[in-house]
Order: sequence, then structure tokens, then C-alpha cells
Amino acid sequence: MRFDTRLIHAAQPPDPTTGAVNPPVYLSTTFAQPAPGTDQEFVYGRTGNPTRRVLERALADLEGGRVGLAFSSGMGALSTLLENLPSGRRIVAVDDLYGGTWRMFEHHRRQFGLDVQYVNMTDPGAVEAAVAAAPTAWVYAESPTNPLLRLVDLRAVARIAHAHRALFVVDNTFASPANQRPIEHGADVVLHSTTKYIGGHSDVLGGALIVRDRRLGERLAWLQNAVGAVPSPFDCYLLLRGLRTLGVRMRAHAASARAVAQTLERDRRVVAVWYPGSPRHPQHALARRQMEGYGGMVSFELKGGLRAARRFLRGLRIFTLAESLGGVESLVDHPASMTHASVPRSEREAHGVRDGLIRLSCGIEDPADLVEDVRRGLARG
Ligand SMILES: *Cc1c(COP(=O)(O)O)cnc(C)c1O
Repeated sequence: MRFDTRLIHAAQPPDPTTGAVNPPVYLSTTFAQPAPGTDQEFVYGRTGNPTRRVLERALADLEGGRVGLAFSSGMGALSTLLENLPSGRRIVAVDDLYGGTWRMFEHHRRQFGLDVQYVNMTDPGAVEAAVAAAPTAWVYAESPTNPLLRLVDLRAVARIAHAHRALFVVDNTFASPANQRPIEHGADVVLHSTTKYIGGHSDVLGGALIVRDRRLGERLAWLQNAVGAVPSPFDCYLLLRGLRTLGVRMRAHAASARAVAQTLERDRRVVAVWYPGSPRHPQHALARRQMEGYGGMVSFELKGGLRAARRFLRGLRIFTLAESLGGVESLVDHPASMTHASVPRSEREAHGVRDGLIRLSCGIEDPADLVEDVRRGLARG
């Protein structure tokens, strides 16, 4: 079956007892046992739940992994994965990392002996040098990154990680499996904040790990139960509901983003635009090689810094000023004062996150309305 068909049918056959075409929400936290100590699929709700199991199997199928595990949030997925890393180990991570991941590494795990080196992963040579410099347990990437939509050559970095016996972990939240499947390019573990495109409606928090190797998957399933950052059955139902339309939504997000990016590229008040689907993106050739679509995220920098950014935001009517991304509704973020406010200015600016930078999550409204809204903002700026 092709991807869009698997979104609807993978791991989701009609319920064998009732014929229900949608997986029922099993709220029960415990499951009757025929005799003490019998081996059965469901025992206790933290360990496993039938609604969650359907979601986990669907995600594993869609990302091409052997094991899928659902969590209560993206950070719940990351912290459970980190439980598998003994203290004193080292990670080589992309420098343009999601802020919550950076906070987890630097402000929490470092005190327990984790060492993280951040590298510019647009250059595989820099990854090679960092991994070769000291024993490395994980190489941790996001692609595209947030907010500058830089790409990591997944195949090249997987080769480097494996040559040094490191686990290659990819946060695939921005692309979603509709646009990019890192396991096909050599990743060992894929992480998702399913809060974003997979849920798709800004109404459920969730996370996931999809694992290539069955033994590592079983170990992480053990940790999922031991740590307990699991989603509720109703959240799993909402995520399955979102998942079925992922393909059509991602095509609509991309159509919106393409139209908005073209508008921004033609405007002289804009210094630079970042959209992997644009031929002007410095890594567009790589985007075409490893992605099947380019998503709904567009970032751009306005001339005139903070004041121009504030005026642009005041001019908008459809884009809502809010953190998060990947929902059907369009959102706008000012990274310097919102999602990246905790990063010191000098560090932030060294990475290209300047005061005039705006990040758009283009929703699935009519692209013409989104283009008009952006023009309204620019007219103010
Ligand atoms: C939102 C996000 C996370 C964290 O996920 P939560 O569901 O908010 O815990 C991790 N990585 C990326 C790229 C994200 O956008």
C-alpha cells in the first residue's frame, strides 16, 4: 500500500469483535487475567493499551521502523530515550536545536554527566570532526531545523554516526513522515512531537519514538513502562484521527507555504526567506533528494529589526501570534522574543536568529487569504 493509504489502513483494521471501523477508545486501566501469571497482551494501562497500540503500530509502519512507542509529549519521548543513556556519555547535536531539547540537555542532563557538543550539521565534515574527537554515544539531528529551516544530509550523517558506533537519532517533527522518513536514510531512532503535524489540530499533546532495531525498541518499550510518560487513550484516539488526514494536510500546508514564500521573496522589505521548497534555499537540491514535500514552515527576516517585526505582527489578521506549529490554523512566531528568548542574544544572533526574524506556520486556509495577510503585515512594516 502507498503512503496515503497506509495513513488510513496501517494497523487499523475494523475492530474484530464489533466491526467498528474506528479503533475504540479503551479507557480501562487494567485487564482481566484468566489465571495468575498468564502471558497476555494487555495487563495494565501504563504498560500497554489497545488504543495506544493501534497508534504505535501505525506510526512504526509509516516511519518504516520495527517498533513504535507513544508518549505524553515530545519531551516525554526525549526524556524516556535519555533514560537509556548511562551518565558520562557524549552527544553530538545539531546547533539549531529545538529550545526544549536544548534546555533538557544543558539545564537538566548536564548535571548528571551528559556532555553535548553542538555542531553546524549543514556540513557533514563538521559532524565527522566532532564525532571523531571523542567517544560519542548519539548523533542527534533535526531536519529541517527550527527556526532557520536548515537541512541535515541524513544519509551522510548516518554513515558518519555508524562508522563511529554512535546511535543516530532524528527529530522528524518539522517534516512529518509524509515528507521525510529518516529511517529510510539510515536513522536508528526517529522522535516526534506528535503535538505538531501528526495531531495537526492544536488540540492534543503527544510524542513518539520509532525504532529501527527490534531489540532497542523492546528496551525502550520497557523504559516507556518504567518511566510512565504515556499518553491517555483519548489522546491516542485524537492522534489517530489527525494521522488519517496527514497526507492531504501536508500537501495543503505546502501549497500555502509555497505561495507565502514566493510573496516574501519578491518583497524588497524582506532581507532573506528560508523555505526548503524554494529553489533559492541554499540546500534545495538536498531537500529534493531526501524530502517528498517541504511542509508549512517559512521563516524570513525583515529589514528594520525589532520595530519592523512588531509592525508586521500588528498588521496580521489571519496568522495568530502563538508558539507551536503544524496545526490547520496559521500561526506566527517571533523567535527572538518568544521561542528563543531564553537563548542569550550573542549566541542567538551568531546562529542567525536576529530581531527581524519571523517564523510562520502556514495552515491550510486558502493560500490567497494567507498571501493577502502577509501583504497586510508587510504594508505595516
Ligand atoms: C514541539 C517540539 C518538541 C517538543 O514536543 P512537545 O510535544 O511540545 O513536548 C520537540 N521537537 C520539536 C522540533 C518540536 O517542534
